[in-house]
Amino acid sequence: LTKQKAEKVVGWAKNHYLSTCLLPSIKGDRLYIPRESLEIAILRLKEQEAISRKPSQNLKNLAKDEYETNFISAVVPPGEIGVKFDDIGALEDVKNALNELVILPMRRPELFSRGNLLRPCKGILLFGPPGTGKTLLAKALATEAGANFISITGSALTSKWFGDAEKLTKALFSFASKLAPVIIFVDEVDSLLGARGGSFEHEATRRMRNEFMAAWDGLRSKDSQRILILGATNRPFDLDDAVIRRLPRRIYVDLPDAENRMKILRIFLAQENLGPGFEFDKLAHATEGYSGSDLKNLCIAAAYRPVQELLEEERKGSKNDASPGLRPLNLDDFIKSKSKVGPSVAYDATSMNELRKWNEQYGEGG
Ligand code: ADP
Repeated sequence: LTKQKAEKVVGWAKNHYLSTCLLPSIKGDRLYIPRESLEIAILRLKEQEAISRKPSQNLKNLAKDEYETNFISAVVPPGEIGVKFDDIGALEDVKNALNELVILPMRRPELFSRGNLLRPCKGILLFGPPGTGKTLLAKALATEAGANFISITGSALTSKWFGDAEKLTKALFSFASKLAPVIIFVDEVDSLLGARGGSFEHEATRRMRNEFMAAWDGLRSKDSQRILILGATNRPFDLDDAVIRRLPRRIYVDLPDAENRMKILRIFLAQENLGPGFEFDKLAHATEGYSGSDLKNLCIAAAYRPVQELLEEERKGSKNDASPGLRPLNLDDFIKSKSKVGPSVAYDATSMNELRKWNEQYGEGG
């Protein structure tokens, strides 16, 4: 291996293995890979192969009735998700926590089958401002854990099939248990399971919530089933205690600081034609308050500028055929695009304060 390749192996392993004793290391011109790491790697490859051989059509045979059939289109097998941890910039602590809490128990359930201390975690909450990568993390997590992914938004169980909300909820869990290992991603978990709406709450919604909780409890008592409920919300303070208790690990996905914005920008701009010596650090410092999603939109806006210039030149007929096509992107393209794509205004200082306070009270290491 070249030194560069060896470093890649070590980097990959750091993202995928948990315990430091399993990590490969470089000493001088040698790459050391612990035997257990190799064994896990082989096991994972085999699992991956087995999963990719399972075509999604099989889901139809698994669905027992029309209620379960409703969820077929919501399921994505791990090989088809298309997002990996490496596609997510920054958020290393979050990735590490998810590695430990989810990936290992899903991939090596036998290590978690004895005793009470290492029980697999059945409920995790990702909370933080919008556009910080919570959905992206959920998808990548399913890929990395080799788990099927079912995405349920707040409105899917309540509004669409109003009268059937209870039956659908039951079917969601019964169908999911046939797909284990599986991650049920509940986006906007506050709108599905938010604080009780008092007397204004619709009876059907209340029954659906109770059913959800009951099915969830049934699942929590079965350690062998590899099913995880992963909730995401921008408004954790709207969740009631019963839900918070069922999501024992609550991970704050914060806005990126300058260093992390730089990491995210490097991912977005990896394939772009950038001018020589492109100043990533300057761009990172000029984008205070931007979420990952805002940064993506800024990059898209900036990337349009050379295109617009070229079209303009063509329109004016001033472009001579010998000139090269699109010019490289420079820092100025981004700075100028800032007037079009600013940081999400929806997340003002008050909301950020509320989130931080909630994190201190309920979050991991808050
Ligand atoms: P959330 O669920 O927190 O509202 P998403 O995961 O939907 O945010 O993010 C929206 C988009 O923003 C993603 O599809 C991705 O393109 C981009 N994005 C956000 N955070 C990151 C990140 N840390 N690394 C790479 N892309 C990101």
